[in-house]
Amino acid sequence: MKITVNSDEFKAWHEVGHATVCLHLGGDVESIEFLESDARGFAVAHCCDVMPNMERSVACGGFAAEFYLLNGGYADWSDKQAISAIVFSNAWSDRVDFAGRVVTQKNDLTKEEDEEFMRHATKFVAPIFDLYFSRMQDVVSELLVARKINGARVKELLQLQISVEAERQNSPMFEGDLPRLAESRLSHGRSD
Ligand SMILES: [Zn+2]
Repeated sequence: MKITVNSDEFKAWHEVGHATVCLHLGGDVESIEFLESDARGFAVAHCCDVMPNMERSVACGGFAAEFYLLNGGYADWSDKQAISAIVFSNAWSDRVDFAGRVVTQKNDLTKEEDEEFMRHATKFVAPIFDLYFSRMQDVVSELLVARKINGARVKELLQLQISVEAERQNSPMFEGDLPRLAESRLSHGRSD
C-alpha cells in the first residue's frame, strides 16, 4: 500500500531523512520524535554536530526523503501539482535554513533559492538514501510505534556504528592515511 502524503508515516520519513543525511555526513542525532502536544502532529529530528559544510544538505534531508518516496512510487503522486505544492510547503523552514538568511514577507525566498534547494535535494541528497533505504524503513516503523527514538537506536537501526567502525579499521590501509599510520606507530612505541 502506498504511503499517504502527510500521514504520520510520511512525516516520519521526512524526519528520518534529516537524521540519515546528518549521520551520513558525519554529524550526530540526539533523537527523533513526534511532538505529541502539537495538534498539527509535527515530528522533529534533533540533529547535532552539524558542521557548516553539512548544514545545507541536512536542511534538504526531509524534502529529499519525501521526493524519494514519491519518485520511487512508494507514496501516491497521482495529483502531481497538488502533491508537489504540499511537499514544498512542508519544507518551508528547511528552505529558509538552506537559504541561510533572514526571510521576511518583503524579502521572501527567491525562485533561484528555491530552485537551488530542489536541485541540491534531488541531485545530491536523495541519492544518499539509496544506501540506507531499507534500514530507514526500519527506523520509520519503530518511530511510528515508539513515537520517540534516541540517537543511539537510530544509528543501530541504520547500522552506522558498524560502517564507521569498519572505516576506522580500514583507514590505515588508505595511502592518504600513511602519515597517520606512522604517527600511531610512534605513539605505540612510546607507550610500550
Ligand atoms: Zn524538515
